[in-house]
Amino acid sequence: MPEFGSDSSFPTEEPVCIGIDLGTTHSLVSVFRDGKPELISNAHGDKLTPSIVGVLQDGQIVVGSAARELRVTAPERCAWVFKRYMGQERKLKLGDKEFTPHELSSLVLQSLRDDAAAQLNTEITDAVITVPAYFNDHQRTATRLAGEMAGLNVRRMINEPTAAALVYGFHAREEEKNLCVIDLGGGTFDVTVMEVFEGTLEIRATAGESMLGGEDFTDRMVSAVLSGEDTQLELAELQQPLRVSRLRGECEKAKRLLSKEESCKIRLPDQDGNFAEKPKTYRLTRADFSRMCDPLMQRIAGPIARALRDAELDPKDIDDVILVGGSTRMPVLRDFVVDYFGKPPIIDHDPDEVVALGAAVQAALIGQDAAVDDMVMTDVCPFTLGVEVVKEFGGHMQDGYFKPVLHRNCTIPISREEVFSTVAANQTNVTLRVFQGDARKVADNTALGELEVKGLPPGPAGSPIYVRFTYDLSGVLEVEAYAPGGERFRTVLTNHVHQLSPAQIEEAKRRIDALKFYPRDDLDNQKLARFAERMLGELHPSQRQQLDEALDIYEDAMARSDREHFASAKDTLLMVLSSLGLDHEDH
Ligand code: ADP
Ligand code: MG
Repeated sequence: MPEFGSDSSFPTEEPVCIGIDLGTTHSLVSVFRDGKPELISNAHGDKLTPSIVGVLQDGQIVVGSAARELRVTAPERCAWVFKRYMGQERKLKLGDKEFTPHELSSLVLQSLRDDAAAQLNTEITDAVITVPAYFNDHQRTATRLAGEMAGLNVRRMINEPTAAALVYGFHAREEEKNLCVIDLGGGTFDVTVMEVFEGTLEIRATAGESMLGGEDFTDRMVSAVLSGEDTQLELAELQQPLRVSRLRGECEKAKRLLSKEESCKIRLPDQDGNFAEKPKTYRLTRADFSRMCDPLMQRIAGPIARALRDAELDPKDIDDVILVGGSTRMPVLRDFVVDYFGKPPIIDHDPDEVVALGAAVQAALIGQDAAVDDMVMTDVCPFTLGVEVVKEFGGHMQDGYFKPVLHRNCTIPISREEVFSTVAANQTNVTLRVFQGDARKVADNTALGELEVKGLPPGPAGSPIYVRFTYDLSGVLEVEAYAPGGERFRTVLTNHVHQLSPAQIEEAKRRIDALKFYPRDDLDNQKLARFAERMLGELHPSQRQQLDEALDIYEDAMARSDREHFASAKDTLLMVLSSLGLDHEDH
């Protein structure tokens, strides 16, 4: 019996709100339908979309696995791990174009939005986007802006480990437990301690590092291989970009293999980045690799201890340890969990998928879906936030001290007011400097921005100034300050993204909108061409000719839109690849 739109029909009045896990290495998109969260596939039929943007020779933009293929042969036209730079004022060059990290993220978001629109057969306007719990105000503001630039109304930004916990809570509502979610992805590390009881999820504490992830583990391996010949990674990257990008590809494969096998061999490209017919290899055991990663594992232990301390729990009080993020597949991490908590972790859900599924559950909570009407979730502010103050020591004033307004791990949303005072009589202006961190001196904390309070009424030194910090459910901070009877001033925290004027944002949007995406329907064919090109570079010269010719004919047919011609060129290319033992789905 025919079914008309049974898969993709939604009530028309409420816009569909998708969930997006905007990852450092992979991104996913999800939706809540028929009472449960589900993932949406991209143009290649994959659930994971590499967070890589590439510019093709003709200027068209590709996102995802086609860009990942392109990255190997043309790294200068691709950008990746740009999530690490979110909120920073830097430009990344792709060919002759320049992008900010949030512009690149907006291109990934657009591609995910298009995948959702294609599968759900409806226009997508609304999204929940996940961010690392340890993302600060600059990074969150940049993420929201990326969403807006992609034409999305960002209904909520939610912490990644919280999203993972929502999935756990969704499936095990009646449990009463203390949980610890450890999220180690490609570029970030978060740990979150929470309590679940009767459908209520209470986040107790969060800690982490926004500059530690699987990529650092890969880098250790690349460095180890290069140090065998006394070469430094940073230097080699500058001098021999193709060699390092191929070597990194081999190390990435080796790292994954070592999650299953006890040892492996890494193929070594030569100085120019080419592989010989019988390339040299470097043998690495799992134990060696684990030892290499010792310094990184020490950085993992610190935030776990801090989160437990803030939650007033001991490792033995944790009932379940939940692992999230691709890097938690590493045995070194799993062994660490067993050592630390005295029990093996729970792996009920695919660590790659659970954050995106949680974003869809959050979307259902916002949309008040009946399937989640008995669920409640509370989250926390992961940082201590405050302002710089002056202290008096025996009549002598000393500035540079930090005074907290919101303490780390307070439940959000929260709005708190503190009273400060002027230091001089008839002081008319105060520059409020806002910081994040736990150090006594502001110099040791992270500066978030400044707020200028002007036109204070005349009065003696010590006149009050009220400062209010409001931290919303998306983790965005608003600062407000006023003197009694005076004007109220609100944050214009002076970080890069906050500093963009509405006109500048409009201008950037226009520039991004004018970019041409490579057509989604053809993306799989483009990916095949880029894969063949990458393989061409990896084959020994004596094996190249046949593939070279087949690729030329395929690309030529792709450029002309002669379907019949194209189909046969594609068949030939696939045949040649398979005769060389190269499977194009095998990454
Ligand atoms: P993100 O959310 O930051 O994009 P992911 O959760 O997708 O990150 O994890 C990506 C990281 O996981 C990469 O650094 C990748 O190398 C690593 N990874 C994926 N699979 C494995 C595996 N089997 N063994 C070790 N590391 C893995
Ligand atoms: Mg992730």
